[in-house]
Amino acid sequence: MKYYILFGPPGAGKGTQAKFIVEKFNLMHISTGDLLRKEMKEGTPLGLKAKELIENGNLVPDEVVVGMIKSTFANNKNVEGFLLDGFPRTTAQAEMLDKMLQEQNEGVDKVISLAIKDSTIFERIAKRAEIEGRKDDADPATIQNRIDTYHQKTEPLIDFYKKQNKYFEIPGEQTIEEVFDCICKTISK
Ligand code: ADP
Repeated sequence: MKYYILFGPPGAGKGTQAKFIVEKFNLMHISTGDLLRKEMKEGTPLGLKAKELIENGNLVPDEVVVGMIKSTFANNKNVEGFLLDGFPRTTAQAEMLDKMLQEQNEGVDKVISLAIKDSTIFERIAKRAEIEGRKDDADPATIQNRIDTYHQKTEPLIDFYKKQNKYFEIPGEQTIEEVFDCICKTISK
């Protein structure tokens, strides 16, 4: 089983690229953001709890997202591999993922990181707000909190995966096709 992580700040283009990657490499796409938005839409207890955190630009608790990942792995034993999008987002999540995979004699294969400047994040999210109508995209203070949260809690994962020699960074400010081409080369090499 292959395990790839698509990494990067909000607005880096993870969702866009994920669609192309899973098709080309025959992987199952797991986006914790999409899973959480589904819970919110359905009004489940988990969704209701997540809604306030997400709409203020905060992370949901590690145990919640790790639980979602665990059950998705358990329910999809017959796939060739997974593309994790938006997970892990904290060192604790990355450690729990490593433990979970080690128990099955598996491990993360590669971390593909899309790098963009904070100013580009702002531009892209503002544009997405008009198209997708996500509440967490609408308010500049919320966007800023998501960027700050990324720098504080998620960026330390870069060193975490560099130490494991699994970290590959791709400039996210090229065209969609150019980014995808770099990703394909990184996965295939
Ligand atoms: P983006 O990449 O644009 O930030 P996502 O769709 O990945 O958007 O996530 C939206 C929100 O869902 C995040 O801001 C966060 O509140 C919550 N979320 C998603 N994944 C995680 C995670 N792994 N850990 C904690 N919270 C998460």
